[in-house]
Amino acid sequence: MTNPRSAVDLPQKARVVIVGGGVIGCSVAYHLTQIGIKEVVLLERKQLTSGTTWHAAGLVGQLRQSINMTQLARYTSTLYRGLEAQTGQATGYRQCGSISLATTAARMEELRRNASMAKVFGLEVRVIGRQEIGELYPLAALDDVIGGIHIPSDGYANAVDITQALAKGARSGGARIFQEVAVQSIRHDGRRVTGVDTAHGAIAADIVVLCGGMWSRDLGAQSGVTVPLHACEHYYVLFKDVPGLTPDLPVLRDYDHCSYFKYDAGKLLVGAFEPHARPWGAAGIPEDFCFGEIDGDFGHFEPVLVDAMRRIPALEQAGIQKFFCGPESFTPDVRYHLGEAPELQGCFVAAGLNSIGLQSAGGVGKVIAEWIRDGHPPMDLWEVDVRRNMPFQLNRKYLRERVSESLGLLYATHWPFRQYATARGARKSAVHDRLAAAGACFGEAFGWERPNWYGPAGTTPRYEYSYGRQNWFEHSAAEHRAVREAVGLFDQSSFAKFRLEGADALRVLNRVCANDVDVPPGRIVYTQWLNERGGIEADLTITRLAEDAFLIVTGAETETREFNWLRRHIGGAHCVLTNVGSAMGVLSLMGPRARELLASLTPDDVSHSGFPFGTSRQIELGYALVRASRITYVGELGWELYVPSEFMQGVYDELVGAGRSFGLVHAGYHALNSLRIEKAYRHWGHDITDEDSPLEAGLGFAVKFAKPGGFIGREALERQREAGLRKRLVQFRLRTPEALLYHNEPIWRGGDIVGFIRSAMFGHTLGGAVGLGYVSEPGGGAVGPIGAEDYEIEVAGHRHAALASLKPMYDPDNLRIKS
Ligand SMILES: Cc1cc2nc3c(=O)[nH]c(=O)nc-3n(C[C@H](O)[C@H](O)[C@H](O)COP(=O)(O)OP(=O)(O)OC[C@H]3O[C@@H](n4cnc5c(N)ncnc54)[C@H](O)[C@@H]3O)c2cc1C
Repeated sequence: MTNPRSAVDLPQKARVVIVGGGVIGCSVAYHLTQIGIKEVVLLERKQLTSGTTWHAAGLVGQLRQSINMTQLARYTSTLYRGLEAQTGQATGYRQCGSISLATTAARMEELRRNASMAKVFGLEVRVIGRQEIGELYPLAALDDVIGGIHIPSDGYANAVDITQALAKGARSGGARIFQEVAVQSIRHDGRRVTGVDTAHGAIAADIVVLCGGMWSRDLGAQSGVTVPLHACEHYYVLFKDVPGLTPDLPVLRDYDHCSYFKYDAGKLLVGAFEPHARPWGAAGIPEDFCFGEIDGDFGHFEPVLVDAMRRIPALEQAGIQKFFCGPESFTPDVRYHLGEAPELQGCFVAAGLNSIGLQSAGGVGKVIAEWIRDGHPPMDLWEVDVRRNMPFQLNRKYLRERVSESLGLLYATHWPFRQYATARGARKSAVHDRLAAAGACFGEAFGWERPNWYGPAGTTPRYEYSYGRQNWFEHSAAEHRAVREAVGLFDQSSFAKFRLEGADALRVLNRVCANDVDVPPGRIVYTQWLNERGGIEADLTITRLAEDAFLIVTGAETETREFNWLRRHIGGAHCVLTNVGSAMGVLSLMGPRARELLASLTPDDVSHSGFPFGTSRQIELGYALVRASRITYVGELGWELYVPSEFMQGVYDELVGAGRSFGLVHAGYHALNSLRIEKAYRHWGHDITDEDSPLEAGLGFAVKFAKPGGFIGREALERQREAGLRKRLVQFRLRTPEALLYHNEPIWRGGDIVGFIRSAMFGHTLGGAVGLGYVSEPGGGAVGPIGAEDYEIEVAGHRHAALASLKPMYDPDNLRIKS
């Protein structure tokens, strides 16, 4: 029997058990106790910080690629600034500022765009020239530097001391921390966490938080929880006796040469984010790994070092004190994993920190603690939400290949539309090869290969990135125009598709949906799923197939999240939810000539009266029976055709063969995005999230307040309706066609920033960049009339005049889709 409780005095019960005593686990413990959750136990298999944390270089930067991630990092800095005074434990925190260099025009544009984004929440980011950089950082040789940004409030800290301070704060708040106690497994009853097992006995718990760094993937997988991450080697070198080095020297980031420079206890630390990293630990992490180092390969690090010595010539006279290589976990999309695992209630994850764990820990600890307390995330955290992961991403070949790219992406130029180069071809539509032959340039989304655009015959469709109009701009414009004027073929097989069937299917769905799905079989309902706060959890279409059967269709990225959202709401009701995504592909015919084309191929009636908008039924096509749904995401007449997988090639061949006479053009996701944004169709995860309500998003038409039995979120919406809306989703178009919007650009009205762009694309019919963003009043009151005043959108430091509209600028009266 292994239960020597006498050796380690473990409690038998806790409200929360945290697995792992790195900076993340200790921050979660600290923040739980700060908000009054005191029955907290943290278990560390060896000693606090002994995994990755002890060797963090110590950078504490704040500006990330998105607004919400920057907010988390900003909070971290604020916390660290006061942590020593609060806990009495030294943290080594120093606010020395940071400088990021640009040696190319594109990098400068990226930095300028980020500086504009930072204005949305008042983070001071100064765009500076070479001369000022030289004054702030006299050690650097700057001949090749165009400019940079300076963030005066950035700094550095000692990761071990920060972790110990958080642990001390947690202990004094009531948490108990045990070292040398490994969690062997997570206990659960099939649905919910019930505790953990250790060699010293079990602890019953309501909540378990996986903060096990690079160990989290395998521990989670034991209980069916998907935490895709893999360790990589991560390098730095410490130089001693560097002439001119002072503790107040800002942190210097030389993105274009994959390096950063930081004062470190009298030495200069030079770290690397090389483009091709070396995955580590594929055969497993040694059991005795504790404050471990990896031998590393100096040759691998050397090219970065050579450039670093050019940047800081003083290094040539300095001596190398230490060449260091340690493991850190990286994730397939270089974003960490946070939140409650969809597969197991009460199991939270905070892992996969991608080399920014120290600067993220404060924010991560805070949001996880609040999420545990409230049962929902305190803000929109979708980009790092553990529910975005797909089970296949636990595949180690996939992970190994992808993380070798992930590390370098942190410092690579964040080109708009940038695609991964590694681990490609994981999920393919049944007509993939035919699309490739038609000239598709594929992008990767959640493992799926999806055509983003098509190159003309005789060319190799390959991205040439820039911040301006990229090489595919005109090709995509032609696809866009074909959809508006003739007919386009989209392969949307990556849609997630579920069936809900059974005696209680209607009752369950009508409680979850804000719209009414009690419609006759054959009708399609566009609806949102809301949380109790009225925020939008999902945006999808539901087709009633029969009295007791529904087809649910949603975006590829939300497959895991939505499947589990519905599964949890079924509870003990009599219905079965099945993921039928792999059973069928989707070919969409969109455009004014879609009807003529379809009519030429099917004996079924596809006339407007015979097949009205918003209906769905089986038709004959080629040798197949396919489900045709008259619906659109591009604002034109059209059908989504749900084709059994084994019939996909035949149906595709029929459509393309007949399509020639109707001007059929293959169209990709970039055209789709341009078309949908002109029509102001919302995209979940960008324009609508769990903190935006359908009323704020202009989707009130899809909410059935009077539906018998109500729906989740109704009361919150009623309160909001009475109080008036404090933000509203608005469509903008830049008045001149030159500037391009991507996302996160500040929206100005007069002298105030009143919002930011959530998603954007060039609108080829409207003739300019089009974006969607929420507008609120600077004073916080109800939003006044939209469009009555002049708006401007800031792009890379320049403001551009924009038209604003609550109604879609393209076909506001829906005449085209109902033709
Ligand atoms: C060379 C290098 C430089 C870095 N520089 C920076 C930087 O400048 N700024 C920055 O922000 N980040 C930096 N990082 C990243 C940062 O160090 C990590 O993101 C962070 O430390 C991760 O913290 P963690 O708590 O998730 O993981 P860890 O520190 O690895 O903690 C996880 C803990 O869980 C324990 N554990 C695992 N399994 C179990 C189990 N079954 N039971 C009990 N305990 C378990 C482990 O022993 C470990 O102590 C750097 C990383 C490296 C490698």
